[in-house]
Amino acid sequence: MMMNTQLTVAPMLERAEKYFSKKEVVSRTFDQMHRLTYKEVGRRTRALSSALEKLGVRRGERVGTFAWNHHRHLEAYFGVPGMGGVLHMINIRLPKEHLVHVINHAEDQVLLIDEDLLPLIENVKDQLTSVHTFIVMTDKDELPANSFEVVYSYEKLIREGDDSYLFLQDIDENEPAAMCYTSATTGKPKGVVYSHRGIALHSLSQGLTDSTGVSEEDVVMPVVPMFHANAWGMPYTATWFGTTQVLPGPNFTPKLLAELIQNEKVTMTAGVPTIWLGLLQELEQEVYDTSSLRAVICGGSAAPKGMIQKFERDFNVPFIHAYGLTETTPLVTLARLKSYQKKLAEDDRLDIRASQGMAVPGIDIKVMNETGEVEWNGEDMGELLIRGPWIADQYHNDERSKEAFQDGWLHTGDVVTVDEEGSIKIVDRTKDLIKSGGEWISSVELENAIMAHDAVKEAAVVAVADEKWQERPVACVVVKETYQASTLKNEIIEFLKPQFAKWWLPDEVIFMDEIPKTSVGKFLKRALREKVQQ
Ligand code: ADP
Repeated sequence: MMMNTQLTVAPMLERAEKYFSKKEVVSRTFDQMHRLTYKEVGRRTRALSSALEKLGVRRGERVGTFAWNHHRHLEAYFGVPGMGGVLHMINIRLPKEHLVHVINHAEDQVLLIDEDLLPLIENVKDQLTSVHTFIVMTDKDELPANSFEVVYSYEKLIREGDDSYLFLQDIDENEPAAMCYTSATTGKPKGVVYSHRGIALHSLSQGLTDSTGVSEEDVVMPVVPMFHANAWGMPYTATWFGTTQVLPGPNFTPKLLAELIQNEKVTMTAGVPTIWLGLLQELEQEVYDTSSLRAVICGGSAAPKGMIQKFERDFNVPFIHAYGLTETTPLVTLARLKSYQKKLAEDDRLDIRASQGMAVPGIDIKVMNETGEVEWNGEDMGELLIRGPWIADQYHNDERSKEAFQDGWLHTGDVVTVDEEGSIKIVDRTKDLIKSGGEWISSVELENAIMAHDAVKEAAVVAVADEKWQERPVACVVVKETYQASTLKNEIIEFLKPQFAKWWLPDEVIFMDEIPKTSVGKFLKRALREKVQQ
């Protein structure tokens, strides 16, 4: 038999302190670029843990962060679970009502807030029922004017804290370490609690060569917000492996990202497709050196094939398309070519890489329709079910757990096909599929095809009610600045014709200045449907 040592979060940082004390975390805030070594991050994190203990945070209690991607947020990633607390990463773009709900529902005791985001919390502070202490994260010595009763400066707490604090040694790996809320189609956001064990195993999986393959040699830049499913686990994984991290901070632009990639020689970055569509435009306008990049991890929504191709062909920037949910820590599948697929023609290779790929080791998936498990033929559709050691088995204190978690599987609500190689392809979310004349049309496939058109910046396809066919697809398109929308409608339909059956073609192409997006940058189909219906 083997030792039953516990897989917990703090030893990941301890390893970075011990073996990679000179390696750096590069962090951008409003006022400056910070360069801290893992030794310094370790000391500051320990001081944070000791300060939280002094402020009365007890084991299992939640500490919320309301912040951009920077070193202080990283310190909270380890400092909160390191003292037995649970880190609640709060989405900074939540509408007011949801913001109040998630803080109260998680029963956050302490909030760590970025200075520029302070007004958003002040605005709701009278409705908060559990928070007793507010901590402001700022580079300045003085606290900004505010109306909180109990309020501290993060930096002052760190200075006065015990930087040799010993992280709790007796944490069980099944204790909670962190939590995030995921948006619900209807009703309030749903809370997902991550165990220490889940985070540790998820991080190990990200280090596998056949997975994301994060290594000490990398320079990793998570663009995905640290409040969106743990920044897809990157901060935990990178710290454990002693990998240099670049944290892009507040209000970044495509230009800033391109500069960071160039100047910091970023090798791996991660974000949703809308971020990469923005970066693509920037790279088309200005010359940057992106030769350091060996992986751009793209997930959260389907990565259009045309985008993957443009990045790789025109800018030599390699893409890895990945799939996951807040409920899954989040890595579930990613698209990589098997050794024998590397010989295929370019277009076939691209098709595989634009799919969501295969489950990573440790994760089980199955695809079910009304008659049972679907065949692996690339055509039959069903709902994707997932299980594994870093998949949630319930929502935090939420009746809705019963719908999503059944018989030991997470029911994702994503409709997929599986091909004979085991690669899944997301056809749609159940609620976004378009039902026309009794047949399904995939909005995702149409969007991806439209986005491959040179003039198109972004495209989203939604259903509109139709008397005869029940529903019909309508395309909403944003064109690049140098193109004229008025001349493009027929061109886009003509462009789609050879690729789709006639009845799949959108009935209408509507041009917009912008497609409404969710708080994490995905197309907001619900709002779009309302807009188009009018
Ligand atoms: P939200 O539900 O708020 O968008 P998540 O970020 O947890 O929260 O989203 C998970 C969902 O995002 C999945 O169920 C799936 O529909 C979609 N998704 C994630 N990655 C991909 C991908 N690579 N391709 C297509 N859809 C994806």
